[in-house]
Amino acid sequence: MTDSYLIVGADVVGEGRADLLLQDGVVRRVETGSDAPRDARRIDADGLVALPGLVDLHTHLREPGREDAETIATGSAAAAAGGFTAVLAMANTDPVTDTAEAAERVRELGRQAGLVDVHPVGAVTKALAGEQLAELGLMARSRARVRVFSDDGKCVQDARLMRRALEYVKAFGGVVSQHAQDPRLAGSDACAHEGELSGRLGLPGWPGVAEEVIVARDVMLARHTGSRVHIAHVSTAGSVEVLRWAKAQGIAVTAEVTPHHLMLPVEKVATYDPTFKVNPPLRPAEDIAALREALADGTIDAVATDHAPHARHDKEHAFAEAAFGMLGLEQALQVVHTVMVRAGSMDWSQVTAAMSTTPARIAGLDDQGGGLADGAPANLVLFDPAARVTVDRDASRSLSSNNPWHGVALDGAVHATFLRGRATLLDGEVHA
Ligand SMILES: [Zn+2]
Repeated sequence: MTDSYLIVGADVVGEGRADLLLQDGVVRRVETGSDAPRDARRIDADGLVALPGLVDLHTHLREPGREDAETIATGSAAAAAGGFTAVLAMANTDPVTDTAEAAERVRELGRQAGLVDVHPVGAVTKALAGEQLAELGLMARSRARVRVFSDDGKCVQDARLMRRALEYVKAFGGVVSQHAQDPRLAGSDACAHEGELSGRLGLPGWPGVAEEVIVARDVMLARHTGSRVHIAHVSTAGSVEVLRWAKAQGIAVTAEVTPHHLMLPVEKVATYDPTFKVNPPLRPAEDIAALREALADGTIDAVATDHAPHARHDKEHAFAEAAFGMLGLEQALQVVHTVMVRAGSMDWSQVTAAMSTTPARIAGLDDQGGGLADGAPANLVLFDPAARVTVDRDASRSLSSNNPWHGVALDGAVHATFLRGRATLLDGEVHA
């Protein structure tokens, strides 16, 4: 690939039509073409929106341990195809990312794949067992510079451990990302939103209150410790109410919502298709409406994918026995465009905040989410809002195919992605 690109006539979020030269890894503002080097590759961006590269706070890359479902390389390719330039890789791998060495290895594998910046999330507790704190300080001081800690997949249930984790990460500006799920209220067999439908289908119910009581507890712990807590994959209207109250009090809480919780209703599980089995579960229309409103008004800070690839032999079971989780990286921006922008609930500067600037700030990433000013790192995505794409799970860059959007027509398409001025997605191809 050539080293420099001249992007002509893109709609740059917040400022309108402009030309961008990507050279030596940074953005250069130029008057139409004349200042660009002759060998710069010209990209006609008429009608395309240019926004800073997306940052995903919640990605499962499955390496080490489950390279049959995803590797850091294939997950990075899916991320680049979705417009991402950085992802936070969750710690629930095998072995768990609970040491400095494990974190450095994930970072190094990400660097070798070379498609997105892969930042490891550190476990809060050793082996995600919920008993002893992991080496939070060593992970923070390692070359991986871990700032986000999570036992995601499991809740940090012990309030005393959660308090200590919050106190610990405060020292280096870290944050604890909580998978809010009281394991007594939503037991290990819970697999669908608890309600009339789960009863009729005979699926063990996961009540919304199992999330809400942990969100309420943890915002109080954040207030008590003066530390930062982040709530992963918020799924209920009740959680939104608690967050709205906590933010009004000035408590340092942030929250994310997934594309699937913004779009897919609980009724999808009536198909018994295990693709739609996810934790937390798909919720009713009232919850979806509250989540969309909270994202639009900033009560929910970020969109994060919870990209959760699974090999066929883990997913193709009866609903109650199948693994939890669905893919999310490749279609995240299209879903947000479809349900929020097209619906008139969000504009592109709000999308930029929710999918790039704010997640970068939450994760402490200095070189991501920073905008497209002259001299800024050339991390950006070009999006074509006029396209309409029917999703084909077999066309995925992920190793897995548990894609909940299969066969669905979504508005818009990612046209190109650039990581520090290098095209990682262009002309429909991912380039390392
Ligand atoms: Zn989770």
